[in-house]
Amino acid sequence: MADLADIAQAHIETVAAAAVKNASAKVYTGKSSLYCCECCEPIPEARRDAVPGCSLCVYCQQILEAKR
Ligand SMILES: [Zn+2]
Repeated sequence: MADLADIAQAHIETVAAAAVKNASAKVYTGKSSLYCCECCEPIPEARRDAVPGCSLCVYCQQILEAKR
């Protein structure tokens, strides 16, 4: 029965990890916007991680920088 317990434990950990990931993805941290302020398109997680505090998608950011 140890195998079943191990499988159950592994499953619980997988579900818990997924729940934490989902929760952290939905919670607004104040660091980066989930959606672009200009076009309301979702900002990729990689960009939000790479550019803390960003509020524009890559496309709108390029337009903004081009105007400067
Ligand atoms: Zn945008």
